[in-house]
Amino acid sequence: MKHQQASEAQRVILESVRTPGTEQVKLEQALGRVLAEDICANRDLPPYDVSAMDGFAVRSADAANAPVVLEIIDDIKAGDMPRKTVAAGQCARIMTGAPVPPGADAVIRVEDSQEISANTVQINKAAKPGNDMRLRGENMFTGDVVLTAGTEITPGVIGMLAAVKAAQFAVYCRPRVAILSTGNELEAMDEPVDPNKIPDANSYALMAQVQALGIEPVLLGIARDDRHELEQYLKRGLEYDVLLVSGGTSVGVHDYVRPTIEKLGVTMKFWRVAIRPGHPLAFGTTSQTLVFGLPGNPVSSMVCVEEFVVPALRRMLGNSRMFRRTVTARVTHAVKFRPGRTEFIRVRLTRDESGFLASATGTQSSGVLLSMAKADGLMIVPADSTGLAAGEQVIVQLLDGTMFQEETGFRE
Ligand code: AMP
Ligand code: MG
Repeated sequence: MKHQQASEAQRVILESVRTPGTEQVKLEQALGRVLAEDICANRDLPPYDVSAMDGFAVRSADAANAPVVLEIIDDIKAGDMPRKTVAAGQCARIMTGAPVPPGADAVIRVEDSQEISANTVQINKAAKPGNDMRLRGENMFTGDVVLTAGTEITPGVIGMLAAVKAAQFAVYCRPRVAILSTGNELEAMDEPVDPNKIPDANSYALMAQVQALGIEPVLLGIARDDRHELEQYLKRGLEYDVLLVSGGTSVGVHDYVRPTIEKLGVTMKFWRVAIRPGHPLAFGTTSQTLVFGLPGNPVSSMVCVEEFVVPALRRMLGNSRMFRRTVTARVTHAVKFRPGRTEFIRVRLTRDESGFLASATGTQSSGVLLSMAKADGLMIVPADSTGLAAGEQVIVQLLDGTMFQEETGFRE
């Protein structure tokens, strides 16, 4: 029962996300947040036609006769307001960003001129009206909606917000996220090394996946496989907007997570998803909390977070872009699959002239965390596939850490 296809599971989860609240932030603290209001231009920018170059503001009709000697009637710097009108046979010296004076309709660069005397210059090049000018309102006109709610605030967006003098504005609140590991075999970071125990990798790996979205989660610690202890921890976890529990969601006799969260009032939506790795993924909700019961295997639980928790958190952050960017690549080697589940193969990406090449990061056992540590992306193989031949085209979802490469992108 309650066995879901990957896309159906994703849909059920996203439908459970409620509209996030909003709060005010200052521009300096807004990077990475998501706008919760439309932002309008409060002025024309530039406010008038300005020069795009250092040179001479001319009448294009005069420049049409180049080479031509013109009288220099003014010297206009950025921030000046021109006082004189350029008449036939005249021009004004002008700096980048300075307003083009009345009468002039084109700018000639210094490089295309030759000074004859203190107040005359020879223009060596013809120019069309508007040449080397930035027209009034090129960026924005008063009242234009320049940014819409749901926009993620990147450095470029910060620049636009500063340009409309938005010193403070509404963004969506960040959800509060709690993370709980479960299992008698687990050893906490601050415990002495016991060769018979398993270090708790999940608390930290999941924490980092959440931090990468700009959310600071709370680590609840490790609950033993004991109904009473688990209940105490889960109760605390249900005070958050999102609770991530790893381990104990499977069908073992000591896998108490599902019965315990149900006892605490969580409505289970599903507890199996047709994916590999990550099959025993459980999801349930209360009026306040989304609860994810993640598989204990570190790779499985990280893949489940990438595919199901990250999109939910992105939506909770108000972001309309919820899913990891995908690229097409060619797989460098053959891969065999048992059909029936969507597969997520951890791959390293390289390039050749034709584009990306994807190679599996060693053994794909869901217990081998190094396969994830080395991965640039997850190669997504549809549930009905029985295998891929070397050279076949595949879809790869990029993971954090793939925004940079070793080579420059310049082609000169
Ligand atoms: P479970 O889902 O509880 O059956 O656990 C599956 C496997 O994942 C077992 O081998 C566990 O030891 C391992 N595991 C569970 N939780 C963690 C954790 N927090 N860190 C590392 N490995 C874990
Ligand atoms: Mg366990």
